[in-house]
Amino acid sequence: MKMSKLFVQTLRENPSDAEVVSHKLLVRAGFIRKLTSGVYNYLPLMWRVLKKIENITREEMDRAGAQELLMPFVQPQELWEESGRWGVYGAELMRLKDRHERGMCLGPTHEEVITSIARDGLKSYKQLPVNLYQIQSKFRDEIRPRFGLLRGREFIMKDAYSFATNEEDLMKEYQNMAQAYKRIFKRCGLDTKMVQSDSGAIGGKISHEFMVITDTDAGENDVFYCDSCDYAANSNHAISKLPAAVVDGGFNKKEVIDTPNTHSIDELAAFLKVPETVILKSILYIADSKPVLALIRADKQVEETKLMNAVGANEIRIATAGEIEEIMREHGFDAVAGFIGPKGLNDINIIADKTVYDMKNFVVGINQTDKHLVGASLSDFPNIDKYYDIRLCEAGDFCPQCGKPLKVTRGIEVGNIFQLGTKYSEPMNAVYTDVDGKNKPFIMGCYGIGISRTAAAAVEAHHDEHGIAWPVAIAPYHVVIVPVNINDELQIQTANRLYEELQRAGIEVVLDDRDERAGVKFKDADLIGFPYRITVGKTITEGLVEFKTRQGEVMDKISPQDAVYRIIAEVNKILA
Ligand code: ATP
Ligand code: MG
Repeated sequence: MKMSKLFVQTLRENPSDAEVVSHKLLVRAGFIRKLTSGVYNYLPLMWRVLKKIENITREEMDRAGAQELLMPFVQPQELWEESGRWGVYGAELMRLKDRHERGMCLGPTHEEVITSIARDGLKSYKQLPVNLYQIQSKFRDEIRPRFGLLRGREFIMKDAYSFATNEEDLMKEYQNMAQAYKRIFKRCGLDTKMVQSDSGAIGGKISHEFMVITDTDAGENDVFYCDSCDYAANSNHAISKLPAAVVDGGFNKKEVIDTPNTHSIDELAAFLKVPETVILKSILYIADSKPVLALIRADKQVEETKLMNAVGANEIRIATAGEIEEIMREHGFDAVAGFIGPKGLNDINIIADKTVYDMKNFVVGINQTDKHLVGASLSDFPNIDKYYDIRLCEAGDFCPQCGKPLKVTRGIEVGNIFQLGTKYSEPMNAVYTDVDGKNKPFIMGCYGIGISRTAAAAVEAHHDEHGIAWPVAIAPYHVVIVPVNINDELQIQTANRLYEELQRAGIEVVLDDRDERAGVKFKDADLIGFPYRITVGKTITEGLVEFKTRQGEVMDKISPQDAVYRIIAEVNKILA
């Protein structure tokens, strides 16, 4: 490809709406253009990258024994009613009506459609196990589309679904997919961590995520991991052991005392001169429009996904100040936020964290503004009768497997694997006939990879202040050849010869034939992120060129032939 013909427009400025590096660089380097919020055009350079990630994914999925198909992007409401998800999926599901007023949606994921395909096509245990996958655009009306391709509304996903007759085969396929994912991300030039995770709205039991570790804001997940063993988990699922802490407030007697204006735990602890560990924190949430009171030792935070799972809700949020006062009034109390507690809230679902179980002689709100009960004990609150783990881990907590201190880092989720069981097959009556002649629901798994998110994550992981530094396997082109002066006969001749030679060897080359200053061409080359650059300048009169890798290795006097051999050898090794 000649640079003069390549469809690319690099920009000097970062787009004003971009917060993270991959978004800035992909726009500036001419890979993507926004069409509307969370929806992007993939321009030619981007499309080359995406096709490479797709192809690596496809090769590894095929190698793992999965079969590719393609399902429709638009799906009928009826199918979503069969699974029960039409009512619960929420606003991310883009719903529409056709001209006959029939309900449809844009596919955010394809469990329903694939389950209907299996129901029609897989009749006997003899046909199982099977794994079917597709690579396709998805649409989710994300509440906060942001970070460019990392969280778009329309994005490209590889989604695979497995069908088995028993848990053991599901587990085998799950492991098989985990191995395929490791190969896929490695081939893409990405380091990933496989971490335990919550199975979220999609449901199911065991699930893992593949995270690209990053120390930037682009990592929307906190990952807790242990250096001493292999424990790694998303914060929404991570568990830990706690160091010993003071949990006895040492109050002489149980009494209600004035605690004026202590609206926060900080203020209350300072006022009473006690550690936070002797305070029982009560937080009112609204879970699927019902109030839920979460209780936790006050030095710890509630992890909302864990809380949501404990309640069995689909949506959860903290109650507003107004809602708190109203709920208090409904229960005969006159209290504002900061002073609430479990007292007398017998018809409200109370979810107590395990840290509460060990508390003695503690401080707690009693639904009276400007007052707290001190010297309280759990026997004062018979409505606290079950304990859950709803606690957010913190760095320094101890590993649940080996007891060493956990560390925390940020991660970008590029893929995940779920064990679904019969979550879809049962309600949708998707059954096969087993050896014993009985009809049984399929035991399913599902496996996703964000293709477009993976491309952006690669930029997050591989860039510097000058631009993108694509891993060779997913770079839009491998090499750029820059003749310094296109009016110099020898330079342009050499550049053309190298261009043809590399192309013949199957290397993807761009020849920067533009009549621009060398500095401009170098800037663009670094911004776009070609893994290799050959510069043909004055030294060509001595038969030498400059060879540079995007990683920063420079050989300023090398024979053109050596540069060509090195590139061919390295690219072929990576692509092999
Ligand atoms: P997230 O928690 O980041 O919203 P998810 O759990 O909703 O992800 P899945 O429904 O399992 O994700 O989708 C499979 C994969 O699709 C994810 O691992 C991720 O790589 C990708 N993905 C999900 N949502 C988006 C999005 N809005 N933009 C780009 N990629 C996405
Ligand atoms: Mg999501």
